[in-house]
Amino acid sequence: MNEFREGALDPIFKPRSVAVIGASRRKNSIGYSLVHNLVQNEFAGTIFPVNPTTDVIHSLRCYPSVAEIPDPVDLAVVVVPRDAVPAVVDDCLAAGIKGLVVISAGFGEVDDEGREMENAIRDKVREAGARMVGPNCMGVLNADPEVRLNATFAPTPAKPGTVGFVTQSGALGVAILNVAAGLGIGFTQFASMGNKADVSGNDLLEYWESDENTKVIAMYLESFGNPKRFAQIAKRVSHEKPILIVKSGRTEEGARAASSHTGALAAADVTVSAFLDQCGVIRANTIEELFDIAQALDRCPLPKGNRVAILTNAGGPAIMATDAFVGLGLEMASLSEETVQSLRSFLPAEASVANPVDMIAAANVDEYAKATKHLLEDPGVDMVLAIHVAPLTSTPLEILHAIGNSATDRPDKPVAVVMMASEDSYGDVRTQAESIAVYRFPESAATAMARLYEYSQWRDRPSTPAPEFDVDDDAVCALINATCEGYMDVESAFSVLEAYGIPVVERRIVGSESEALRAAEEMGYPLVLKAVGPELVHKSDVGAVAVDLRSMEEFYRAFTEMEKRIQAAGVRAESFLLQRMVRKGHEVIYGLSVDQKLGTTLMFGLGGKYVEVFGDVRFAVPPLSKEEALEIVEGLRGHRLLEGVRGEAPTDREFLAEVLLRLAQLSERHPRIAELDINPFLATSSRAEALAVDVRIRVEPVR
Ligand code: ADP
Ligand code: MG
Repeated sequence: MNEFREGALDPIFKPRSVAVIGASRRKNSIGYSLVHNLVQNEFAGTIFPVNPTTDVIHSLRCYPSVAEIPDPVDLAVVVVPRDAVPAVVDDCLAAGIKGLVVISAGFGEVDDEGREMENAIRDKVREAGARMVGPNCMGVLNADPEVRLNATFAPTPAKPGTVGFVTQSGALGVAILNVAAGLGIGFTQFASMGNKADVSGNDLLEYWESDENTKVIAMYLESFGNPKRFAQIAKRVSHEKPILIVKSGRTEEGARAASSHTGALAAADVTVSAFLDQCGVIRANTIEELFDIAQALDRCPLPKGNRVAILTNAGGPAIMATDAFVGLGLEMASLSEETVQSLRSFLPAEASVANPVDMIAAANVDEYAKATKHLLEDPGVDMVLAIHVAPLTSTPLEILHAIGNSATDRPDKPVAVVMMASEDSYGDVRTQAESIAVYRFPESAATAMARLYEYSQWRDRPSTPAPEFDVDDDAVCALINATCEGYMDVESAFSVLEAYGIPVVERRIVGSESEALRAAEEMGYPLVLKAVGPELVHKSDVGAVAVDLRSMEEFYRAFTEMEKRIQAAGVRAESFLLQRMVRKGHEVIYGLSVDQKLGTTLMFGLGGKYVEVFGDVRFAVPPLSKEEALEIVEGLRGHRLLEGVRGEAPTDREFLAEVLLRLAQLSERHPRIAELDINPFLATSSRAEALAVDVRIRVEPVR
């Protein structure tokens, strides 16, 4: 009976028949709502309620068990109490059902026993070549007019459209459907994943990747099940269609990390953002913002540049829009002489024809149409925002259609509209204007357009595979094995960098005063002296770094004073490190750490003693392409410092990116390195002079 592909999601999203196990006559129960919604939405296939205690539900014949349903069933929706679920799943699989949606709760989200039951169910489902959404979810929905499946208990139906939506929270799913209905946004499919025992967000990404009706993929996520796989899939899919995410979990993190300091908390979220940026995924802060952006992605082409022209009939909102655009990194277009002349020819004398073009309150439908057209034809304009503040008499829908028609003539440039209209006409505007992105306030429109631009930039960026460097992995393995666990000794840490082709400063490790003096004379001056030991984490904090020692006398004095200071601080120096004094370069920092959710993350930023003060760092998740590494180096707030200020030579940014790429390779090949800090690395205009002068590496035991 089944021509569905083995293991595919079609039995779940495109079933020809649905059984509801745990269907109920009791109004307001989930078992009732499910049958009600299936019927109400006019599901295109057959519905089989299953409940041993009654004969009829919702005018449909009710069956005592799945086994007794006479026809083949594609999808089983399960709403029985937790302890009854395993037997029901067995029945379903025995009856050859390939799709399951388990709404019932009380599994992995509750306790270990629940988790075990959940895993056992998943194993059986997979063994049978079936797929399961849930448990602990609110169901699935397919708005395709050919299917019309609403297998959820949400009261709001979904309009057919182009958005595929997956939510990790069922409760939020209801709100999502409500918000979307209010905004006139339609779906292809919608799924609430619940505990993700079998079907995950990654599976849905791949499902919608190959579904040609889905133009925009939207996700509400609390965690990435498998971040590496997510990154692989998301990068691939984002080149074809946009992925939008509301990623929460700050509170979850907060609950677990209440005792750790807030810096780490902020960093965790910053790394998630960096990770999503890297994957080309568009991050929204709220569900509302997600739909603002979804509207633009669905209805506008991607902009080729960041120059915006604003058209308005009121000054205030245009100023707000300008502030919002500029604040988000977009540019106000300067209009060509030709455009200005054309606008002048039909607009009243009081109108302002510079950008923003203010047509004054009386602007009519015709003027909106023409002005939009001229702005779109200007080669210096990449996108247009039209603002209309409705006077009592006008009809916003006509204005909207006029703008929409002009936009259709230039399908290569996005046009968004801000309609400030009365509440009742606004509802019409939202639901009737299906092909144009309409917003209530300039800021929402600006955010949507800015994200559109960033996404188009990501798509245009060449993406090459991570480069491979010729390095000495055997040497690194030996150094890691010799450390077993904890911080590597200083010399080994420098050796790891050397094995990976990262330049390090000339140095000597010595144990005693006499040895130190002999080494200093051999190396020559100026020198830097550092005391090292397991307790000396931030050496300069306890006066364990002395720089620019120019003679034997200076060196000797520095040595004896340092010994005293360290003793006074109550820490022990295991040995002393002599380094060549480096006079050149900007201090930058490289870092590697393991994030609880994302795995290994890399960091680059402005370094030295003030790294925490400036906090100017960027994160990335390996593997990294050359382009990604360069973007991180050039994406610092203080990037101009590296470009060279006031006659300084610019630093070699390609080389800074290369060091990051070498560290990415190190992290991929040597996962036992759990923490690595190069602070500072002295960045110079020539790669021959750049050097690491301080490094720390922590190694994890073999797992
Ligand atoms: P810590 O970070 O433990 O305090 P560092 O080894 O990073 O110790 O040294 C602190 C600062 O001293 C560095 O940020 C840098 O400004 C300076 N410094 C350290 N080593 C050298 C060196 N070899 N040449 C020049 N300056 C150095
Ligand atoms: Mg340091």
